[in-house]
Amino acid sequence: MELLVGTTNAGKLAEIEAVLKGLPIQIVPLSSLGGYPEVIEDGKSFEENALKKARTLADFSGILTLADDSGLEVEALGGAPGVHSARYSGEDADDARNNEKLLQALTGLPREQRQARFVCVLALCLPTSGARREWLFRAECEGWIAFAPRGKNGFGYDPLFFYPPFGKTFGEVDRETKGRVSHRGKALRKLAQALPSLLPLLR
Ligand code: IMP
Repeated sequence: MELLVGTTNAGKLAEIEAVLKGLPIQIVPLSSLGGYPEVIEDGKSFEENALKKARTLADFSGILTLADDSGLEVEALGGAPGVHSARYSGEDADDARNNEKLLQALTGLPREQRQARFVCVLALCLPTSGARREWLFRAECEGWIAFAPRGKNGFGYDPLFFYPPFGKTFGEVDRETKGRVSHRGKALRKLAQALPSLLPLLR
């Protein structure tokens, strides 16, 4: 069975391929399809955004499609940046600016008030004429926001995300170590566990 993976992020695609290998699934990268529609992520929740992406690309391609949405929720900021994580510092946002803005927003707050979690939602959508079928997989990873960036690995907020069981930020660990505990790794393993029982329903 073919599975369209709705991301152009090579790192995410590699993570997904690694977790799903061994299953009777042939991964179709989004980049292999020409003229696919761009999906504006304007939902109020990770679920809304992931579903919008999966539905749009499933309807466009006509094949089973997986899409994800993820972000960082900081308790002291009422859950911000949340679904706005990628664009937290504005239209010309990049990782460095986003991290700088986050540190500024938490200035003066002690360790106990810097709790945060990464969230990942995967949406799997089967396009069928009439009723679509879809499934959601959510996972979270709890930590706190460090007082300064540490480590050069990963992307996004990784250098600021301190993960207590490691005693390090995600910027200080390799990809495989992060994947064992991360929001995306956990959501992908939930998907991989569910897929064998879903596959008969998908044919
Ligand atoms: P998206 O899921 O590609 O829309 O990512 C949203 C944003 O959340 C990214 O641009 C990052 O800023 C942040 N983010 C999501 N997952 C991670 C992660 O594993 N590490 C660091 N930042 C992340």
